[in-house]
Amino acid sequence: MLSRQLGRPVRDVVEIPARCVCGNPLVAATSPRLSNGTPFPTTFYLTHPVITSAVSRLEAAGLMNDMNDRLAADEPLAASYRAAHEAYLAARADIGARSGIGDVPEIDGVSAGGMPTRVKCLHVLVGHSLAAGPGVNPLGDEAIAAISEWWTADRCYCEGAWDTAGEAPSRDLSRHGPQGLPDIVGRPAPVRKSRTDEAAAAGSTTDATTEAGA
Ligand SMILES: [Zn+2]
Repeated sequence: MLSRQLGRPVRDVVEIPARCVCGNPLVAATSPRLSNGTPFPTTFYLTHPVITSAVSRLEAAGLMNDMNDRLAADEPLAASYRAAHEAYLAARADIGARSGIGDVPEIDGVSAGGMPTRVKCLHVLVGHSLAAGPGVNPLGDEAIAAISEWWTADRCYCEGAWDTAGEAPSRDLSRHGPQGLPDIVGRPAPVRKSRTDEAAAAGSTTDATTEAGA
């Protein structure tokens, strides 16, 4: 189901922390260390295409600029956002423990989406808010409220939202999806290789191709 929603195979997903009222996934939680060894800071990944595209509309409309201005001027908001960052790290540590991965020191203190001081990817914040529930990530909560014209938690929007015919996507040309990097801005995002990937790719002649877009 996740692969159908995303249009590509998913790997290293360890939990589904938020679901549609019908039971389909809204958010996937990825292991803090991928099976190829790569540390992976972006734990909560929006998978539902209706929510993903609605959040992309907010980004296109410039909501992140507004949020960044407010973070600079509104100390209570900034403090609440820092707390969201800490909650994100704690949730990731819990998932690492539950999945048997344990600590991933390479990403200590690194969350995602621009936290703790900036907003760089609203999809990350919405994924966090859906996983954590309301009251944990103030800007994720705000973005969820702002997409209510297109998606609300009390309704199923799955019908026709992704291709359900034929085989689920199985062709995997990337080592990890472009949403997985902590500093991407919105979607579609350019695929940028981490040093780990570049080092690994240097030893391979067949695995250097990357997937363009999510
Ligand atoms: Zn549904």
